[in-house]
Amino acid sequence: MSTAVSRGTSPVSPARQPRLTVLSGPSGVGKSTVVAHMRKAHPEVWLSVSATTRKPRPGEQDGVQYFFVDDEEFDKLIANGELLEWAEFAGNRYGTPRQAVLDRLEAGEPVLLEIDLQGARQVRETMPEAQLVFLAPPSWDELVRRLTGRGTESPEVIERRLAVAKVELAAESEFDVTLVNTSVEDVARELLALLR
Ligand code: ADP
Ligand code: 5GP
Repeated sequence: MSTAVSRGTSPVSPARQPRLTVLSGPSGVGKSTVVAHMRKAHPEVWLSVSATTRKPRPGEQDGVQYFFVDDEEFDKLIANGELLEWAEFAGNRYGTPRQAVLDRLEAGEPVLLEIDLQGARQVRETMPEAQLVFLAPPSWDELVRRLTGRGTESPEVIERRLAVAKVELAAESEFDVTLVNTSVEDVARELLALLR
C-alpha cells in the first residue's frame, strides 16, 4: 500500500533558492539610475561589478561602477575563464567576473547583473534558472532624449548605441518580465520585489 500523502494538484513548494537576476535594456533607458535608487534604500542588494575596456566617464571609479581594464587584461580574463559571460557592446568589451557571482549564490544571497542582451542570452544558456528582466523605455523618443540628455557620449557613440537599442527592443519577448521605466521609484520597488 502506498504511504504517499496526496497533496491534490498543488505543487510542493521548493526550498527558496538564491536567485540570479539579470537586468537588461537599451542604453539610456535608466538601468543604472534604477539600480542606484534601489541600492540607496537597500545597500544590502549585491550588484556584480563588471570588467570593461570602456574608458571611465567623469566621476566613475575603478572597482565601483566597473573594473576598468585594457584590451590585454580583458583578453587574459577570457583566456583564464574568469568571466561568466562577456560581450562587445558599441565598440567596447564588458564581462561579468565569475567567481564573485558564484560565491554570493553559494552563500545563499541574491545576485543582480546589469548586462546587455548578448550577456543575458549567455546567462540564459549557462544558468537557465536565472530570472531575466527587461527594462523598457516609455517610448522611443523618450529613450533618445534620455541617452542624449545624459551627455556622456559623443553624437557618433549615441548613434551607435541607438542602432543597438533597436535590436535590443526587438528582443524584449525573450525576457521573463518587462518593467517600463516611467518612474524610477516604481521600477526600483518592482525590481526589489523580483530579487527577493
Ligand atoms: P542606462 O544605465 O540604462 O544606460 P542611465 O541610468 O544612465 O541609463 O539613465 C540615462 C538618463 O536617463 C540619465 O540622465 C537618467 O537621469 C535619466 N533617467 C533614468 N530614469 C529616468 C526616468 N524614469 N525618467 C526620466 N529620466 C530618467
Ligand atoms: P555603459 O557603457 O553604458 O556603462 O554600458 C553599456 C552596456 O554594457 C549596457 O547595456 C550595460 O548593461 C552593458 N554591460 C555592462 N556590464 C556588462 C557585462 O559585464 N556584460 C555584458 N554582456 N554587458 C555589460
